[in-house]
Amino acid sequence: MSTNTSKEKFIRKIEINVINKCGMKCQGCSHFASLEKEEEIYSLDSLESDLIQLKTLGIKIKQEFKLIGGEPLLIGDKLIDFINLIRKYYNEQRIVIHTNGLLVEKMSDELIDCMDKNNVHLYISKMNGYNIDKNKINARFNKTRICCLYMDDKETFSKIFLPSGKTKNKLLQYSICTRKCCHTLRNGKLFVCSVAAFVYRLNRDFGTKYPENCFIDIYKNSAEDIIEFLRNPTELCSHCDGQRKYEQNQVKNIELSDWM
Ligand code: SF4
Repeated sequence: MSTNTSKEKFIRKIEINVINKCGMKCQGCSHFASLEKEEEIYSLDSLESDLIQLKTLGIKIKQEFKLIGGEPLLIGDKLIDFINLIRKYYNEQRIVIHTNGLLVEKMSDELIDCMDKNNVHLYISKMNGYNIDKNKINARFNKTRICCLYMDDKETFSKIFLPSGKTKNKLLQYSICTRKCCHTLRNGKLFVCSVAAFVYRLNRDFGTKYPENCFIDIYKNSAEDIIEFLRNPTELCSHCDGQRKYEQNQVKNIELSDWM
């Protein structure tokens, strides 16, 4: 039975994956996007229904909507529709586009204008082997209110899964994990993290058997039960590692060992 009060019905961050593909092959991608072959753009209708359902349930989003993929800039000006849709229901929260940076110079004036008007920020990951012209990018964004942040930390990636299979202490794994702070909203479900949302890609391509049921249906559960679910470890957490950090790296051939 849930012990949450109505005061506690909030989620800090929600991630929306606007496209499945990325175009890069980062070793051990936490969204397993490097495994996707056919391009699929996320449905705005599905997103709108889910945003309405969260409102109906009285679940607040406290801090941030994260637009990511795959690589979100691959959908170009269609991002404007996602931004406008979120702003239709949520005025105050930060919206952040997380990109690998390769298409930033090709962003249209319309998209930048929409971001500026809607308080949308841009976080750019450091990609080894690719040069981004920061001066050029800054010159364009300095004329706006958009915060353009470069995520230059060297060791931003970590092996996701334990090579040994499973730990008995999933609570410990969960408590030290930073991915649990941003939940993935997708087709009427809230997943505890992006790994839980997309691990099916790894299972599909490598025949692994990681749990794919670490989500809660937002149409079949109460707000209290949804919050309770998201604040506790799931079965997948017992497989996670997250301690072995390494520098982002592009690979030619994707292997299961990239994730463990
Ligand atoms: S499954 Fe659990 S431990 Fe693993 S990344 Fe997600 S929240 Fe973290």
